[in-house]
Amino acid sequence: MKKNEIRKHYFQDKYVIISPKRGKRPHRTKVAGDEEKAGKECFMCPKGKVKVIYDLPDLSGGWLVRVIKNIYPALSLDNKYAYGKQEIVIESPDHEKEIHELSIEHIRKILDVYSERYESLVRLEGIRYVIVFKNEGGKAGESINHAHSQIIALPMIPPLIREEILAIDDYQMEHKSCPHCDILKNEKKSPRVAWEDKHIFALCPYASEYPYGVWFIPKRHVSSLGDMTGDEKLSLAKAMKHIIGRVEDLGLNYNYFFHNSIDDCNHHMILEFAPRPNVWAGLELGTGIIINTIPPEDAAKFYRGESKGGVTGR
Ligand SMILES: [Zn+2]
Ligand SMILES: [Zn+2]
Ligand SMILES: [Zn+2]
Repeated sequence: MKKNEIRKHYFQDKYVIISPKRGKRPHRTKVAGDEEKAGKECFMCPKGKVKVIYDLPDLSGGWLVRVIKNIYPALSLDNKYAYGKQEIVIESPDHEKEIHELSIEHIRKILDVYSERYESLVRLEGIRYVIVFKNEGGKAGESINHAHSQIIALPMIPPLIREEILAIDDYQMEHKSCPHCDILKNEKKSPRVAWEDKHIFALCPYASEYPYGVWFIPKRHVSSLGDMTGDEKLSLAKAMKHIIGRVEDLGLNYNYFFHNSIDDCNHHMILEFAPRPNVWAGLELGTGIIINTIPPEDAAKFYRGESKGGVTGR
């Protein structure tokens, strides 16, 4: 890519300026020595005193994945002024392991737990939307080092989600097809394919808002994790392990979050992966227009192992 480009989202009214800086690498957002060693007082370790909601047992009487109550929730079911529910998914009993260092089978089990908790929270009285997400690294909002993700049940449909839902509905009215199924078709042979197998397509989207951003799109039209078969979830786990591992090699913080369908909409679920090397500044906050210094074509090359990453503008 020689010149900068303003790019529009596939089907939403969202814009990105792709602006590669020649030879510049995004800043490492992880600092060496950042992660403290297993603290005796880490409440996410097996000995921690916590309110357990759900344990996925291992074979020796312990657990592989644990769900606990958020200790300082912003929302709770007994507060009608800030109604909702927050849970924490502890991804492994091992304090030292990050998610991409776990086995594919283990990551698949984390997905099973996400699905289990999602289905149970979405059925709660007064809950309109449930978001499953992960913050990894201080700049992505992580405050505890033990690998974990979060689930928040909200009493409203958040504005960003509502916009997306409306855009998908409009697209379906106009094209008589699902936008994500169409993206799968149209991007099949594009230079933006980061990873794929029989079940999962990992795409660096055309108007990527994040350097090295990826959408994990199930190839079959499923509306939630609960709709996915065991094989499909195993593929997603494999894709996540590869993509997250590559971004960890670059030392970048990241977030990921599921775009789940609501109610009977039957929209195509995707998992969005958002590395966060940059702090958004005035332009981003004031206009919603994002500058991304890593063209998605370069990001995909990096994930396919054809480049070292960070180096752009070639
Ligand atoms: Zn711990
Ligand atoms: Zn961490
Ligand atoms: Zn679809």
